[in-house]
Amino acid sequence: MIGVTVLGSTGSIGVNTLDVLARHSDKYRAVALTANTDVAKMLEQCRACLPEYAVMADEDAAEALANGLRQAGLEQIKVLSGEAGLVQVASMPEADCVMAAIVGAAGLLPSLAAAKAGKRILLANKEALVMSGKIFMDEVRNNNAVLLPVDSEHNAIFQSMPANYAGDMAASGVRQILLTASGGPFRSCDISELETVTPEQACAHPNWVMGRKISVDSATMMNKGLEVIEACWLFNAEPSQIQVVIHPQSVIHSLVDYVDGSVLAQLGSPDMRTPIANALAWPARIDAGVNKLNLFDIARLDFETPDFDRFPCLRLAYEAMQQGGTASAILNAANEIAVDAFLNEGLKFTAIASIVEQTIKTVSPEEVTSLEQVLAADAEARNIARALVQ
Ligand code: NAD
Ligand code: MG
Repeated sequence: MIGVTVLGSTGSIGVNTLDVLARHSDKYRAVALTANTDVAKMLEQCRACLPEYAVMADEDAAEALANGLRQAGLEQIKVLSGEAGLVQVASMPEADCVMAAIVGAAGLLPSLAAAKAGKRILLANKEALVMSGKIFMDEVRNNNAVLLPVDSEHNAIFQSMPANYAGDMAASGVRQILLTASGGPFRSCDISELETVTPEQACAHPNWVMGRKISVDSATMMNKGLEVIEACWLFNAEPSQIQVVIHPQSVIHSLVDYVDGSVLAQLGSPDMRTPIANALAWPARIDAGVNKLNLFDIARLDFETPDFDRFPCLRLAYEAMQQGGTASAILNAANEIAVDAFLNEGLKFTAIASIVEQTIKTVSPEEVTSLEQVLAADAEARNIARALVQ
């Protein structure tokens, strides 16, 4: 049996991961589940999966979970809490494989712990690479961890790259990576309407059902910007080698353009269980419960160039990656604060980009020398972004 730790099991990716695992219970076993505060959902998942460990990042939630498990006669499931608990289950010997699906910067240390422990890491938490790509990739290499992308576009690129791709695009005959984007819910509305959009409108993604933070990121296209940065680290590419292509149907999940004129792509129904199952079983293929793609129903595929005036966050992400060093950690931190303020405090949708831009101008990016320095840049950027929100 392959033991799997699912970091962020109560989230959108987490739930999809447990669905795929349940379809192959002869091969995979969830050894640890983790969440932030959702005790009810964690209890339900513990009943269904019987993991060895259940971790709540929040201490009070951990206590409530322990009580709930006792009442359910499941006291054999060990309850841990806080960052220490997350790091423990990401690096413990029982976990052969770690699904990194915590949202945001909170996922960095547990994901990094999995890399240091040489795990097979299924990476959904793009923010970890955006914040500390160099440190993360070094830990993966130095500890012989296996890093498999779960983000649908990066999984598509991974599938379209040569089988033994070792990080040299030129040597592999790769000319360009084409990263597709749906364009989100505001792709074609009047730009003047963006000022007044509500969280509900921003979270109503046309093709994917996702957590609220990534849904807002998709609406601003900051998600695609973070994905450009993620792709640079995963595939050792320059930002100029990655072209974002708006493709509203979300059927082609990304493409790789080769020097001989071949363009390889991965297509499929927009269902995260495909990249999850691909990363889980790679290089084998397993059933993911996903509907067969019906090209006759889809009938046509459209493509557009992205508009940086409509989506300034995409431009800011490109600029941060070009700037290098801690710039992308600063971008990510400011974005997390601004998105949270948009979702919970009535910040205007269009202010998200302004807050990110002003924060990057205020905090000076530095060359990355240590994790502590990245975390300090993250903290400083959060303070500044919070002040700007006020
Ligand atoms: P979500 O909000 O649905 O779930 C997030 C999970 O993280 C939950 O289990 C939550 O309990 C946990 N969590 C939140 N804050 C935490 C904290 N401070 N400490 C510990 N745990 C915490 O998010 P999601 O949509 O599943 O996305 C998860 C990650 O996967 C994100 O990085 C996102 O960018 C990436 N991703 C998601 C999708 C998707 O389709 N949902 C696609 C590609 C990539
Ligand atoms: Mg994606």
